[in-house]
Amino acid sequence: MKNNNNNKSSFLGLTVILFMIAGALYIYFSATFERELPKITLENNGFWNLKEPLNLSISDDSGLKEYKVILKTKEGETDLEYEKPITVEKLLNITIKPPRSTYITKDKEIELIVTAIDRSKWNFLKGNSAIEIVKLKIDNKKPQLNIIGNSYKISRGGSALVIFKVTDENLESVFIESESEKIFKAVPFYKENYYISLIAWSILEKNFKATIVTKDKAGNIAKSYIPYYLQNKDYRLSKINLKENFLKGKIADLAEEFEETQGVENSLERFKIINENIRAKNERLIHEVTSEVPSEMISDFKVNSLYPLKNGQVVAHFGDHRKYYYDGNFISEAYHVGIDMASHSMASIVSNNSGKVVYTDYNGLYGNMPIISHGLGLYTLYGHCSSVDIARGDLVSSNSPIAKTGKSGYAMGDHLHFGVLVQGVEVRPQEWMDKKWIQLNIYDIIKSAKKIIDRD
Ligand SMILES: [Zn+2]
Repeated sequence: MKNNNNNKSSFLGLTVILFMIAGALYIYFSATFERELPKITLENNGFWNLKEPLNLSISDDSGLKEYKVILKTKEGETDLEYEKPITVEKLLNITIKPPRSTYITKDKEIELIVTAIDRSKWNFLKGNSAIEIVKLKIDNKKPQLNIIGNSYKISRGGSALVIFKVTDENLESVFIESESEKIFKAVPFYKENYYISLIAWSILEKNFKATIVTKDKAGNIAKSYIPYYLQNKDYRLSKINLKENFLKGKIADLAEEFEETQGVENSLERFKIINENIRAKNERLIHEVTSEVPSEMISDFKVNSLYPLKNGQVVAHFGDHRKYYYDGNFISEAYHVGIDMASHSMASIVSNNSGKVVYTDYNGLYGNMPIISHGLGLYTLYGHCSSVDIARGDLVSSNSPIAKTGKSGYAMGDHLHFGVLVQGVEVRPQEWMDKKWIQLNIYDIIKSAKKIIDRD
């Protein structure tokens, strides 16, 4: 009997233990008792300007029971946010607005303490709680921005210079933005906190406005409009009647080499593709290659007035707006964004400025086309060459022969298509071929800016 009783109670005991284990296992593995902490993410880069709100997200699979955001300064702690969500939400996106009182805080650094509790029954029904302490540097001062000097004017299709000073403890970026949202890079100049930039007014834009924009890491922004005198310039519009021998000759030859014109039988259609699609593709490559601006500090910028072809006669101008017609019907149009110069066949092309060779390949309509970088985002381009005597990466010294004129690409006769680009924008080469223009718009600005900087 005794034995039997013993057996019974031990059986009971075992059952209880098994139930307890099962219960524990249930609790352990059940979603209701999950032990995963809420995930707290505060978007930040270590800075806060106390103007823009901060984005906070809190998530948890079992839903959120409550959360709290505390601002801790030297003066004490303030509750910025506190909520007990009524519905079961798995993800909360919260914008933390800076309280007005903190704007005047003298603290250079504050802490945001975010706590969140989920709806899990774990932890004796209290749920899992997470805490995240984020230290933020306070910076509500925008950068100081002053223009030291700029070219007096800029013309449509032309170039101009600007030199300015930017100071900020946590500076992040400095650039120049045109009305068409083209970004021009600025290069550190002469002494700390000074910048220089060559910019350009694209011939394709009717209006122009350039603004220096500078941002710090806390998101404070300073802007300054560059007070150039704007000179609009009309370029020649020429109407060209497409001739049969041109369409069946040069255009048919070109059509053979491009993928885009394969199988296109209509000669006008072929012309349109070459003049628009192929040209756009070739120019995209040019813009990409010439957008690079070396970012090392420079203390000066010198350039000899450009003179690429000895005794070269100008046969077509920069900015010519060419409209093509056939039988009186408009077919296509394009801007000529360089100047054409001709001398004798296969004449020697010379770079009378030192620079680095950045491109030497064949580029569609431009034929064999070396490009040289002269620093500060200034590039020279030589199209239609019959041969190229330099290689990519070469450093050329002033007055080096670099190639020979020819008619490769979209060229009827032997000539040089001479292009000048500023940060990826084609500009009027005549300015850079004019010693006086360079003196007035580049050298004089640099010289007087240096005087101001030396006194600063
Ligand atoms: Zn040309």
